[in-house]
Amino acid sequence: MRAVVIGTGPAGITAAETLRRLDPSGSVMALTTEPFPPYSPPAMADHFLTGREAPLYWKGPDVAERLGIDERRTTRVMGIDADAHEVVLADDVRIGFEGLVVASGSRLYAPLEGADLPGVLDFKSLRTATEMFGRVRAGEVTTALIVGNGFIGIELSLLLADLGVDVTVIGRRNWLMPRVLDPETSKVAEAALTKRGVTLRLGVEAQAIVGGTSATGVRLVDGTLLGADLVVAATGVKPHTEFLGESGIVTGWGVHVDDRLSTSVAGIVAAGDVAEAADRFTGERYVHAIFPNAVAQAPIAAANLLGANLRYDGAETMNSLKHLGVPIVSIGTIDSPDEILRWQDGVDLRAVYLRDDRIIGAQLAGDIRAAGVYRSLMLRRQPVGHFGSRLVDPGFGMADITFDALRSGDLTGSAV
Ligand SMILES: Cc1cc2nc3c(=O)[nH]c(=O)nc-3n(C[C@H](O)[C@H](O)[C@H](O)COP(=O)(O)OP(=O)(O)OC[C@H]3O[C@@H](n4cnc5c(N)ncnc54)[C@H](O)[C@@H]3O)c2cc1C
Repeated sequence: MRAVVIGTGPAGITAAETLRRLDPSGSVMALTTEPFPPYSPPAMADHFLTGREAPLYWKGPDVAERLGIDERRTTRVMGIDADAHEVVLADDVRIGFEGLVVASGSRLYAPLEGADLPGVLDFKSLRTATEMFGRVRAGEVTTALIVGNGFIGIELSLLLADLGVDVTVIGRRNWLMPRVLDPETSKVAEAALTKRGVTLRLGVEAQAIVGGTSATGVRLVDGTLLGADLVVAATGVKPHTEFLGESGIVTGWGVHVDDRLSTSVAGIVAAGDVAEAADRFTGERYVHAIFPNAVAQAPIAAANLLGANLRYDGAETMNSLKHLGVPIVSIGTIDSPDEILRWQDGVDLRAVYLRDDRIIGAQLAGDIRAAGVYRSLMLRRQPVGHFGSRLVDPGFGMADITFDALRSGDLTGSAV
């Protein structure tokens, strides 16, 4: 098959690799707006802290050459002519395809006045991150303001603090990662951030990024002006779908895909942060923008493009904060529980969110080893009422509890 892949992020490069492996006599072209080899965004923080390249270029910097993928960097897809089976680039340059993988990922979403001012940077792509850390290394940045208290804002604040920058994080809600963490888990993260030198201004709303020829600060809704050498927007992400407008591919927030990861147009599949895939637990379709989902979807999408009929089990909602010094994991949802069980001792914390006697979400801080057990119970929709408060006992879910014991609730002889 003559296949084209849009994107060389975790989803795109995994799809391209799968296509080469399953169809060695076919051809694969992979297009990316980035000037870099395929990289792993989760490894960017480590890269800018330590300079290490291996985790960043996770498939090897020569992956395209090695696998015979025709990789085109700094190449932006402007549109798709689905009837002609062509991808359209600038100046109406057209590239024909027999099969197409849309893996264009996501970009910064910053619905904030002044977000387009020169000098406003983000930590979403290696290109913008390289510019940011170029300025930091050149000694131009002693103070930084990060607008947004989500995952990326937190990761970046720690990195900048470790590099000696005086960082302030501004968040509209008064706790961190409000859609992912509950306020109690957030408190553990807040304490760790503060200890690392990050200043948190939570529960305050940024009205605009301000500056003349370049961003110089942030104005809050109450009129307060905060100034800094570096202003970063970390207000959220949005799937890259702008170029799909005329293609006939149905999109909402992201690209609509079925449980084979096919789009509404035959011969075009989608994977990763751009795709609105079904949730494995609830079946609800939305963008699950995390790395494991991207690399799980890509091989299925690619194989199906070649004629397989593989079903995707669904995406998972899981987040972990790895660089705080205190590990924190959140799985599932904290939305509309009918009961919450909680145990906490200092930074060690367990909270289990229940609905209809089943786990819908869990949060762990400190000792996070039981996360896998909660996840399994959640995905199996196992009734858990018989455990009562033992469900959040610090010994619950340790290695010596078997699944038979978990199923029956008879934990005699186990750690609980
Ligand atoms: C700083 C940071 C830390 C993260 N940490 C974690 C973590 O710890 N754990 C976790 O699970 N997830 C993490 N994530 C999220 C994870 O990186 C994403 O879920 C993953 O990168 C999605 O992969 P993707 O290939 O779908 O999209 P992306 O990585 O966004 O790649 C998209 C690709 O499409 C290309 N593209 C876009 N539009 C076009 C176009 N019009 N034409 C041509 N090419 C185009 C881009 O150039 C790029 O190559 C992190 C993200 C960031 C930014």
